[in-house]
Amino acid sequence: MGGEPRFVFGPVPSRRLGQSLGVDPLPAKTCNWNCVYCQLGRTTRMKLGQERAEYFPKEEILQEVREVLAKHQPGEIDWVTFVGSGEPTLYSELGWLIRQVKACSELPVAVITNGSLLYLPEVRAELMAADAVLPSLDAGEAELYRRINRALPELSFKRLLDGMTAFRESFPGALWVEVMLVRGLNDGEEALNRLADALRTVRPDQVHINLPTRPPAESWVKPPDPDGVERAVRILGKTAQVVRPAAGKFDLGNGQDLEQAVLHILTRHPMKESQLRDALSDYGAEDVLEKLLESGRVQVVERYGERFWTVSKGRYGKPVNGH
Ligand code: SF4
Repeated sequence: MGGEPRFVFGPVPSRRLGQSLGVDPLPAKTCNWNCVYCQLGRTTRMKLGQERAEYFPKEEILQEVREVLAKHQPGEIDWVTFVGSGEPTLYSELGWLIRQVKACSELPVAVITNGSLLYLPEVRAELMAADAVLPSLDAGEAELYRRINRALPELSFKRLLDGMTAFRESFPGALWVEVMLVRGLNDGEEALNRLADALRTVRPDQVHINLPTRPPAESWVKPPDPDGVERAVRILGKTAQVVRPAAGKFDLGNGQDLEQAVLHILTRHPMKESQLRDALSDYGAEDVLEKLLESGRVQVVERYGERFWTVSKGRYGKPVNGH
């Protein structure tokens, strides 16, 4: 492998997976949903999400994973996680990649997915080799699902729920369902009761309640107030827990090309300005941010009174009425 990695990023501190080495097999942003809370901004090319494809040669991705793993000491990475610039099951060789990573490393493998393609038997079969699969379920009925996740029309709520339930029946690993709680959308009594019903059908091992903490695609998306969080924990059942933001440092590599290292992470993972400055201060290189901004390759998106850094190609809704 020459130069900086293209498909592998981190390890980054993850709220659920410790130090997680991310593997992103997709071009930015390839998704079949357009969630109002998406940290990557709006999905501008939904068409791309209609079919699975080998967007990049699988051997190149695997080679890069191998080389990055070889550069880290035991204990520096907790999980290898397929996640990134969209929906990873749209990569048609995902199953092959998971099996190959498992064959060359002792580390557990996770897949963070929206779960939309679990209705396809071949996708369920491919994910079988993973140790943990983390699909999303933000609503317990079709109308709210449509408003939050804004999926392609053929991806109905019924398909999502049936696919997840069928996967649960055969998957021997950990199924952790992710719920993103958005104020005024799915944090009320009725919405949570419907969601709890849906979760009882799926029977995940754990339910992770996430709160929007990175810049959402739509500026009106807000985290629930403490009552909403408490209601969700009470209604979603014994296996539900709130996932708080991770502590920990971002790995910016050997410091040789910090601009590139920052860009590489921001492409998949917008960061708070304070967190980014903290990571760069280890290298005495806070000026990297100003250089990147001047070059036009990054942008600052303000949400919840915080400044978040992300790449300039992300499309975020403009704040409305100063919010
Ligand atoms: S949050 Fe995930 S599923 Fe939703 S639009 Fe973004 S990448 Fe797609």
